[in-house]
Amino acid sequence: MAIYPIRTFGDPVLRLPTKPVAEIDDAVRVLVTDLIDTMYDAPGVGMAANQIGVLRRVAVFDTQDELGPRILINAELVETSGEWLYEEGCLSVPGHYWEINRPGFARVRALDLEGKEVEYAGDGILGRVLQHEIEHLGGGLLMDRLDKPARKKALKDLREEALGLASFE
Ligand code: ZN
Repeated sequence: MAIYPIRTFGDPVLRLPTKPVAEIDDAVRVLVTDLIDTMYDAPGVGMAANQIGVLRRVAVFDTQDELGPRILINAELVETSGEWLYEEGCLSVPGHYWEINRPGFARVRALDLEGKEVEYAGDGILGRVLQHEIEHLGGGLLMDRLDKPARKKALKDLREEALGLASFE
């Protein structure tokens, strides 16, 4: 069990697509445990492998229902519908929240730790978390979803923050 530092915006690993898992071996089992520990330590509701610097298509989430942590190996988004504007944040972009428009409903197909096919589907926070983690696994980040002026402003804020400048806007 290990808690990893969470990679933050500017770290190139967040922009790299992860690679599918060919075999669920000990390395994958350890990775899943580390992701769960790091997610709970943050605390957060989801964590993708590249957020701790591992380029494998593995993510975990816990939407704080009574079901506990759930594991997504080789997850793919198979269906989305509707639209939902929601103020969204990301552990890799700490302290920032943006109104992000995404489909409201999402259905995801993945493998669990036994290699069995599992499906998760829903709207609200569940639909949001599923889409957010799958976006990470493809090398995406939530700001990619903003329209051009909002994205420009977000990147300017992040650049100024990185330089230690105060934002006067
Ligand atoms: Zn995130």
